[in-house]
Amino acid sequence: MNKLYYDSPYLKTFTGTVLSCGRGKKGFEVILDQTAFYPEGGGQPADTGVLGGVRVFDVHERGDGIVHYTEGELAVGSVINGEIDWERRFIHMQQHSGEHLVSGLIHARFGYDNVGFHMGEDEVTIDVNGELTWDELMEIEETANRMLWENLEVRAYFPSRAELADMEYRSKKELVGDVRIVRIPGGDTCACCGTHVTRTGEIGIVKFLSMMHYKGGMRISLVCGEKAARDYEKRRREVQKVSVLLSAKPGEIAEAVEHMKKEQEALKAKLAESSRELIEYKVGRLKENGDRLFVIELGFDALRLRQLANRILEEKKAKTILALARTDGGFLYVLGSQSEDMRLLSKELNALLNGKGGGSMQMAQGSFLMAKERLCAILKEKGFSSPGPCNEPGAPNLSNYA
Ligand SMILES: [Zn+2]
Repeated sequence: MNKLYYDSPYLKTFTGTVLSCGRGKKGFEVILDQTAFYPEGGGQPADTGVLGGVRVFDVHERGDGIVHYTEGELAVGSVINGEIDWERRFIHMQQHSGEHLVSGLIHARFGYDNVGFHMGEDEVTIDVNGELTWDELMEIEETANRMLWENLEVRAYFPSRAELADMEYRSKKELVGDVRIVRIPGGDTCACCGTHVTRTGEIGIVKFLSMMHYKGGMRISLVCGEKAARDYEKRRREVQKVSVLLSAKPGEIAEAVEHMKKEQEALKAKLAESSRELIEYKVGRLKENGDRLFVIELGFDALRLRQLANRILEEKKAKTILALARTDGGFLYVLGSQSEDMRLLSKELNALLNGKGGGSMQMAQGSFLMAKERLCAILKEKGFSSPGPCNEPGAPNLSNYA
């Protein structure tokens, strides 16, 4: 099997003879005498394309050769044309060569090894076995980009045994037999079977995106070339949208968000204050009710229901209070008492009102999934009285209280 992509990484079309074609688990499995299709390996995804008019959707190297997974059958012995999806391949070359350069620079500067490389749809990740700061990574990026603009030659070749013996190169594993070396002068020397650009200028740009601690070292995300340009536009569009929403210049959106957050905090404090006043007002107008009382509120959250229940108990307007707030299709509830066990009562009410939740002896909370009229009827059966008519539409109606 002649691997055309080794010496001719820019080969987009080629001719080959079909040596075998069998039906496999995922389509047909085609082996040729030679191919320009790169099989997945060394962190670089497989090429896709067309072979003899049928679609190639994956390529893997096996013991018996490079297998092209195709959507259609190809006649054994036939001579066919192949064409790889060049745009996809070239993007892979840009990422792969860029990855070599930065891994080489990190190795030279900090002595760390690249112990993991993955080329994903959106970004490339490399794992290094040592810690870096973002500033240090930015220095690497700066150096790498300068080396792209110098348009250095990238050489992929099989050195002789003697040459190899004297060579220092990065490699993830012990290698036997012929070793293919990819070299960027002053940048990196690494054993690799992937496809690479022949000039660093073709990488376009190297841009680190993020970094996190990972398995005792760092996982670094980056993009190169066309992916970086697309990523830039994606981010620019997001910033633009936020900038319009905030009516702030793109360079000042963080400041604008900070300002907005402060305003929001102030509003929250004001709202909490108003809430407290409203609760005081409501409790003040509530008639003393004796034993079990329930009130229905609109738009109260669990916190405010608790505040309301606590104040009703403190003011001794009832011995046991069930404070309810409407939700989609049901009610949020807070149950409080100075005399009864709320764990028992919430259990009983949950069973009757299709509810869930629980709590302590003094207070329980949860939700009921029940229509209002039915809920009111059941609560009345259980000895709960309501200060207002139960059939009004559930507005925060003060007639509920006075
Ligand atoms: Zn490589």
